Amino acid sequence: MIRVNKLNKSFGQLHVLKGIEEHIKKGEVVVVIGPSGSGKSTFLRCLNLLEHPTNGEIIFEGASITDPKNDINKQREKMGMVFQQFNLFPHMTVLENITLSPIKVKKMEKSEAEKIAFRLLKRIGLEDKADSYPNQLSGGQKQRIAIARALAMSPDVMLFDEPTSALDPEMVGEVLDVMKELADEGMTMVVVTHEMGFAKEVGSRVLFMDDGKVVEQASPRELFENPKHPRTKDFLAKVL
Ligand code: ADP
Ligand code: MG
Repeated sequence: MIRVNKLNKSFGQLHVLKGIEEHIKKGEVVVVIGPSGSGKSTFLRCLNLLEHPTNGEIIFEGASITDPKNDINKQREKMGMVFQQFNLFPHMTVLENITLSPIKVKKMEKSEAEKIAFRLLKRIGLEDKADSYPNQLSGGQKQRIAIARALAMSPDVMLFDEPTSALDPEMVGEVLDVMKELADEGMTMVVVTHEMGFAKEVGSRVLFMDDGKVVEQASPRELFENPKHPRTKDFLAKVL
C-alpha cells in the first residue's frame, strides 16, 4: 500500500530522516516507537506529504506521490490522519466536523454525509454528542470524534501520531479500543505511540526509530522480548 524509498528529510541544516526504506502492506498495523526527536512524526507527516521529503520517493497505491506532477489531494483523501492534539474545528459542532470533508472534498450530499456521520458516532458510542462543540467534550471523546472524522472519508490507511499522549490516563483505553476495533476490521494503520500494550496486542510489526533511521523492526513479540540493537534495548529498558 505504501512504499518508501530512500526517504530523507532535512529542516535547514538539521538532517531528520536519514534514508528510510519501508514497505507497508494492506491490512498491516505498523507501530512506530522511539525516543522523542527521533523523527517519528516527521516520518508520518512525510507519508501524506504534510512534510515534503528533501529526497526519496513515496509510492502510495502504486502512484508516486512525491512526483512533482502528482496531485496529492486525491491520495490524501485516502489517508486519514489523527493527531495528538485532536485538531477539531472549535467553531463547528461534532456533526459539522465529521461531515465537512465529505461534503466539501467529496461533494457528498449533506444528508448522505450526515447518515455516515451518525453511523460512525454510533460505532464510537457518541451519538448524543452530534450537536456538541469540541470544548464541551472530554479529551477521550474529542479524539474518538477525530478518528470518526478521518473515517468519514473512507480512507485506505489511517495514520496516528501519538493519539493518546495528550489524554488523561483514564481516557486512553477508550481511544485505544476504537483503534483496536479498526485494526480488527482490517484497516491498514501506521501508529506512532508509547502504548507498548497496544503495540504488543495489535501491532503486526513494530519499527524502532532512533536518530532518523529505522534501527530495528520485528514482530511485537520478537522486538519486545528479544531486541537486537543496543539502542532498542536501551529504549525498551526505559519504557517497559
Ligand atoms: P518525534 O516525533 O520522534 O519526537 P519529530 O519528527 O517531531 O520527532 O522531530 C525530529 C526532529 O526534527 C527534532 O529535532 C525536531 O526538532 C525537528 N523538527 C521537526 N519538525 C520541524 C520543523 N517543522 N522545523 C524544524 N525542525 C523540525
Ligand atoms: Mg512526534
